[in-house]
Amino acid sequence: MSEERIKYILSWVLWPALFIGCMSFTTYGFLNDNPILYFNIAYVFMIIALWRLEIWMPHEREWHKPDGQNIASILHTLSSKGTVQSLLIYSTAIGLADILEGSKGLGLWPDAWPLWMQVCLAVVVSEFGLYWAHRAGHEVPLIWRFHAVHHSVEKLWFLNTGRFHFVDSLISIVLAMVMLMIVGAPMDMMMWVSAVTAFLGMLTHCNVEMRFGWLNYIFNTPGLHRWHHSKDLKEGNRNYGENVMVWDLLFGTYYDADYRPPADIGMKDYMPKAFWKQILWPFLPVSIKQRLEPDFVHLPFIREEK
Ligand SMILES: [Zn+2]
Repeated sequence: MSEERIKYILSWVLWPALFIGCMSFTTYGFLNDNPILYFNIAYVFMIIALWRLEIWMPHEREWHKPDGQNIASILHTLSSKGTVQSLLIYSTAIGLADILEGSKGLGLWPDAWPLWMQVCLAVVVSEFGLYWAHRAGHEVPLIWRFHAVHHSVEKLWFLNTGRFHFVDSLISIVLAMVMLMIVGAPMDMMMWVSAVTAFLGMLTHCNVEMRFGWLNYIFNTPGLHRWHHSKDLKEGNRNYGENVMVWDLLFGTYYDADYRPPADIGMKDYMPKAFWKQILWPFLPVSIKQRLEPDFVHLPFIREEK
């Protein structure tokens, strides 16, 4: 079989195989009281697999060029993860987690359903919070300041997966948790949603040539997310879903087309290159931004589609 044929077959198989494979391995860990270890092994496996696949069968060769943002992206990933974990540990330490675990919210959670159906429901319910956090990140000027860090990269690859300003991550996680609390989901549903989000998020940002077919109507795939990173707002103010596309389909923000998404991605707003300046940037007034970065040009917040 020719290499091209193998790549074509893999382009159809990779996305479901990596997602189902990593989720199954993590599920085994969950069911055997060792979720963290199994999740971490699967996560490292996915990182190595995507890293090698991006070199062998990339979607855009252009995106192989270095952009000087690797260290910043890794530091944003660590600071976001650290912030979210601190929030969970702190809420446990002050007893908030126990109170929430004890409260049944509106008492709507179907405890008797099979576990896999509960996880699917938790993904859809939490996605309502994630969808509106993300949409606000694009439509509310104050929140866009933080979300702009994620959109400041000019290429997509697995390393950009966790590149979020920690305030942006905090807004998303709080809204997702609130949705699960309102319906009265048990706390371990948050762990399941976190695992799904980790694997799907890594796949969503990867630069591997893949095909998705009808999966594009259910999941946030790399194919859909590349539109979201377009500079053209007709394409970029779309596909806010983090894991699943149900709320984009319902609220009219779903977008897919039969032409190729742009390779020239990013945003028009200015973003400094250094991590510490990116962290401070959303908090700074224009005058200090101009002093810190001589090239900085202040643009008014324009999110209308031309
Ligand atoms: Zn976005």
